[in-house]
Amino acid sequence: MAPGTASKFSAREGFLFLGQEYALNVVPGQRAALRFEQGFFLSKNHLPAAPALFESWYRAAARRVLGERVRLYAEQFGLRYAKIRITGARTRWGSCSSTGTLSFSWRLVMAPLEVVDYVVLHELAHLKVQNHSAAFWAEVARMLPEYKLRRDWLKQNGRRLTLEE
Ligand SMILES: [Zn+2]
Repeated sequence: MAPGTASKFSAREGFLFLGQEYALNVVPGQRAALRFEQGFFLSKNHLPAAPALFESWYRAAARRVLGERVRLYAEQFGLRYAKIRITGARTRWGSCSSTGTLSFSWRLVMAPLEVVDYVVLHELAHLKVQNHSAAFWAEVARMLPEYKLRRDWLKQNGRRLTLEE
């Protein structure tokens, strides 16, 4: 890690999780390296490792949140997928392979849940239609009539879903 990264990190006011900004508190003498309780609490000793700790926290959160949302909607719409994979992609929020593997960037859980749901439903729609044809968007609209607002939010705010500033 480059020198100065950690101090810049701790100077940040907060971090997004499901559309809400939570403050970062650096706590001397805290046992756990990083814990979350309506805010992020980072042990002062672990400050140099902050970027890696945050990434692994977000990856675990993404696995949990995206797993829940995919299961919920797959069941609701009677769709079958193979597995879920969490990636580190910066602008490709989700993808669906021809074998039914759904991939999502861990950065996506920084966005509001309605936006997470849009990406989940978008990828689930690809289980039926692989391309972005009119038939595909009709499928998305059937599952989520107001999808355009959420897609636009992601286009406009996607840059903000990052740990680096
Ligand atoms: Zn797509």
